Amino acid sequence: MARRRHEPFFAVIGGSTAYEFISSGAIKGERIGRIDTPFGASQPAFRVEAGDCSYFFMSRHGEADFDISAPFVNYRANIYALKDLGVRQIISWSAAGALKETSETGRFFVLDDCIDFTKNRETTFFRFKGLGFIRQNEPFCPTMRAATMGALQELGIPFNDRGTYICTEGPRMETPAEVRMFAALGGDLVGMTLCPEMFLARELEMCYASIAYVTNCAEGIRQRDYRPGRLYEGLSTRREQKTVARSFKLLPQVIARLGELLPNITPSCHCQQAMRYYQGRSGVGRDWREWLNP
Ligand SMILES: [Zn+2]
Repeated sequence: MARRRHEPFFAVIGGSTAYEFISSGAIKGERIGRIDTPFGASQPAFRVEAGDCSYFFMSRHGEADFDISAPFVNYRANIYALKDLGVRQIISWSAAGALKETSETGRFFVLDDCIDFTKNRETTFFRFKGLGFIRQNEPFCPTMRAATMGALQELGIPFNDRGTYICTEGPRMETPAEVRMFAALGGDLVGMTLCPEMFLARELEMCYASIAYVTNCAEGIRQRDYRPGRLYEGLSTRREQKTVARSFKLLPQVIARLGELLPNITPSCHCQQAMRYYQGRSGVGRDWREWLNP
């Protein structure tokens, strides 16, 4: 695909029901479509203009309802496609379950750490190369995290400035014993989507941060009757779902403000140098596409 001049460097990967923002016009974007990559086709990308900022937008789970559940998202194609568009910074959002009773539904978390419990996903671009021994001292980009917190603060939206996200394989939800284990390990939230997405972004030297919002309490955190036919079979109440919907609607504003802030922030992170050690060594040059060739 021909690259236009002055394309944005910033992209948004939207989580559950993100497509609603496009279909409702809350996020207005020109549809670029699916992008072919060596790992398959990406989810459709959109080019969005919002006030003084422009960014690429991609809905992780598809364009209608829940087209693809978390274990089957083609994370490599999505991240490759964004890199191919010239993206350097990614903010994602993700719905998550709370592992602590004190975390209210609808609450935002600017995550700062992660434990990966996925089992069957393609976790790296470097399956056929001896690359990818990448340090994770700050798994989420500190520059993007600071900018995200700045945007939330300016908009007066309460949030937790830290949070450890546990990523499970899914699509089933967690058992009560798993939830107790995740909480004992120091997890704050549990979800199914950020791994390997965040690590793949780092492999291609892109900054990546995530806003998570609490959609429900994880199993066993609060006593909830089983209600067939309801969302999460009754794990969250209707009142809690309304709170979640209110938080969800704030995301386009947060992103627009973040998009305005980012160009004025000098990155203080090392995300965009993650592969420097390998560059100059045999077979690994500056062109990121060469890193991936089998
Ligand atoms: Zn960074």
